[in-house]
Amino acid sequence: MIVMKFGGTSVQDSEAIDRLCSIVRSKLDRQPVVVLSAISKATDTLINCANLAAAGELAKANEDIENLKTRHIEISTGLVEDETSLSELIQKLTIYFSEITDLLKGVSLLSELSPKSHVKIVSYGELMSTLITSCAMKERGINSLLLDSREFIITDNNVLKGEPNISEITLRTQNTLSASIQNGFVPVIQGFIASSMDGTPTVLGRGGSDYTASLVGMALNAEEIQIWTDVDGMLTADPGKVTGTRIISKISFEEAAEITYFGAKVLHPMTIQPAVEKNIPVWIKNSRSPETEGTIILNYVSDNEKEVKSISCKENITVMNIFSMRMLNSYGYLRKIFEVFDRHKTSVDLITTSEVNVSVTLDNNEYLEDIKSELSEFAKVNVEKDKSLVCVVGSNIRNTKGIAAKIFGVLSDYNITMISLGSSLINISFVVDKDKLKDVLQKLHDTFFK
Ligand code: ADP
Ligand code: ASP
Ligand code: MG
Repeated sequence: MIVMKFGGTSVQDSEAIDRLCSIVRSKLDRQPVVVLSAISKATDTLINCANLAAAGELAKANEDIENLKTRHIEISTGLVEDETSLSELIQKLTIYFSEITDLLKGVSLLSELSPKSHVKIVSYGELMSTLITSCAMKERGINSLLLDSREFIITDNNVLKGEPNISEITLRTQNTLSASIQNGFVPVIQGFIASSMDGTPTVLGRGGSDYTASLVGMALNAEEIQIWTDVDGMLTADPGKVTGTRIISKISFEEAAEITYFGAKVLHPMTIQPAVEKNIPVWIKNSRSPETEGTIILNYVSDNEKEVKSISCKENITVMNIFSMRMLNSYGYLRKIFEVFDRHKTSVDLITTSEVNVSVTLDNNEYLEDIKSELSEFAKVNVEKDKSLVCVVGSNIRNTKGIAAKIFGVLSDYNITMISLGSSLINISFVVDKDKLKDVLQKLHDTFFK
């Protein structure tokens, strides 16, 4: 069997869902499980409305929700011809929207948005896209079976970014899906949403539908995980920032993990891990152009290939510089520093050290002030906001002489800091000022992909 995940743009309107149905139909012999995101922008709208309600702007929130409802109903009307099926579908959507409105009212009355309310509200995006799509599939003769991912994608209690419980997911996914697949059904499930062991709704973090797809693929020993999106595959850089990008036809798990971890939004960074676990190839393909081959991510060593595969970046990074003379010749000092980040559940991306200084990059500023004040008890701390992190990735970096010289040679006019060659020797990363990011990316791209 295979897992086919379709992102927000692949379900953004009735034409997109119609295309999706044709793509799924062409793969029926491979026993697909279909994983869907919310329709494009729905998650952003739901989050925004929840925040508006908490800030006392319920009327504006309700107006935006009404527009979202209109969009969902228009999509349904454009897809489903049978009158009875359509009216049932619209009735179900109407119930979902009245539940959302009730939740927003509650948030507004309390003037507070708890993480649990946030998750409840945001979950409707995927519940509605799967409801509509599975109905459209049925009308097109596909034996779809709508299931609720919260019954088998189980996480810990971190509701906004649940950590998957792999053994529970494996057990429950097999129990819930295997027999239906064998019996010829096409399960349609929500990406992103999950629940904890005690049944509390959780989500896997933004962009988490890709992660759902690979968790399901792992649990069911899928032959393949397909990520259907709005670009032709994994590209040599973010097409929104760099011109002249190209498709990478084949890339290793190791390289893809670095590229996505360091910012390429095309795939949620955690997607690779479950696929590696079971050695399942991951395809990235364009739902608007299914005949284009796309990118395959798999376990191989990319010898004799270009030294650089892709250049990714993370924006709005904070650099924290921690100085202390007490670091000189002392032990346990780094542990002391990283315990502070650990206590505040803040992960660091890049780390550079000298005898008296440790610099780290953070992409989550939620606990920045607390971290700074704790570190200031034993070190001098300086924070630089609005930085960008650039990461040049390719497994042949480790075999190629002079690559750092090539990178920094073309960037000699820019102020580059925190240069780091990752321990896997397949990435070179550094920090630049936000306003120089686009220039730096384009210059590097022109150098390596002329
Ligand atoms: P989906 O809604 O299908 O999950 P996303 O918007 O999450 O799609 O991811 C696809 C987008 O990722 C592309 O439209 C592209 O702008 C962006 N992107 C950033 N870096 C890359 C890259 N290296 N290769 C391909 N796409 C990239
Ligand atoms: N709908 C969710 C989001 O926008 C999950 C996803 O699309 O992958 O973050
Ligand atoms: Mg995505």
